[in-house]
Amino acid sequence: MMPRMHGYEFCEHLKGPEGIKGVRIIVASSKPFATDKAQAEAVGADAYLVKPYTPAALLGKVRELLSQAPSESPPPANETAPAPAPAAGQAQEALPVTRGQLPLYVHFWGTRGSCPAPGAATTRYGGNTACTEVRVGETLIILDCGSGMRELGSALLREYGERPITGHIFVGHTHWDHIQGFPFFAPLYNPRNSFTLYSVHGAHGSLESVFRGSMASDYFPIPLKNLACKLRFTEMTGPVDLGSAQVSFAHLNHPGICIGFRIDAQGRSVTYLSDHERFARLNGEDDNSRRNDARMTEFARGSDLLIREAQYTQEEYSARRGWGHSTFDDAVLEALNAGAKKLAIFHHDPDHTDDMMDGYIRYCRGLAQKAAGGTDCFAARDGLRIEL
Ligand SMILES: [Zn+2]
Ligand SMILES: [Zn+2]
Repeated sequence: MMPRMHGYEFCEHLKGPEGIKGVRIIVASSKPFATDKAQAEAVGADAYLVKPYTPAALLGKVRELLSQAPSESPPPANETAPAPAPAAGQAQEALPVTRGQLPLYVHFWGTRGSCPAPGAATTRYGGNTACTEVRVGETLIILDCGSGMRELGSALLREYGERPITGHIFVGHTHWDHIQGFPFFAPLYNPRNSFTLYSVHGAHGSLESVFRGSMASDYFPIPLKNLACKLRFTEMTGPVDLGSAQVSFAHLNHPGICIGFRIDAQGRSVTYLSDHERFARLNGEDDNSRRNDARMTEFARGSDLLIREAQYTQEEYSARRGWGHSTFDDAVLEALNAGAKKLAIFHHDPDHTDDMMDGYIRYCRGLAQKAAGGTDCFAARDGLRIEL
């Protein structure tokens, strides 16, 4: 969860051929998920301590590791090195900066979490998984590639006709519900079109290798390399400048690598936080949780629109603690703390029917009104378009 390089990647560097021979690594993390501990070990961590830990626990680990003979085992095999990421702030695509306010809209194409949930009980809120379009003037930004991406692709083909499409696709993490629409995004199959895919380095290798793997022949008939469009992968190490919009990222509290995005465009801002479990809810109210939650609040500070996941009621959460998702209460609380003007509840649980959702959103609106913080709270739903 470090600003420019996550800990797994750092471990890979330290233990790799260019690293420091015989170095021992203790990962100290705020994330207690088993996935993260296993992943740290896979990339060479010798120990994993969950914050907060006592000085005695740290010293004990240090003594234990120093008393062991230095490891002669070869460093973990790395995948082919990814293309070097552009420097932070470097423009990806020389889009013209236009004076005056460009139109900005957000269009939700998929708002469900975990698994698509089509059917009669979800017609109003929708059943497609996470995919959100943000358009700043001519700049096309896509947040996540869930199953909603298929319909976005069809809409873009209708809109652009014979004109080439250029788009910037930001992927928060690569769990199924955030990538499963990617191979069904029709504009990828046209050589006229160009897309850049942004995220951070994958937990197990390059960003590109994760997408290549998801389209391996066991899972999909067409390999990634056969996509006709110009496709570029960019591993973010800082904010990306698209000309009319700047996109920055922050690490979220979810098993594995997961980041949220903030889009700042000519004085307006959209923050997208999916998937995320509030630190204090998971780890308890201590200094470390408070610091981490404050970091998230600052990231979303003053957003015109905060798209924030909330998957569970407090009652449901008690059986799903540590799954990396939030309660409705936490989403509203964080939106109020950040002073967000609008809060779109996002990543709806696949078991939540339209009628249940109506009740949850009423509850959220009630919380926001009681706090009198001025945040307008509503549910993101498939097909909803908001002008900002
Ligand atoms: Zn998800
Ligand atoms: Zn996830």
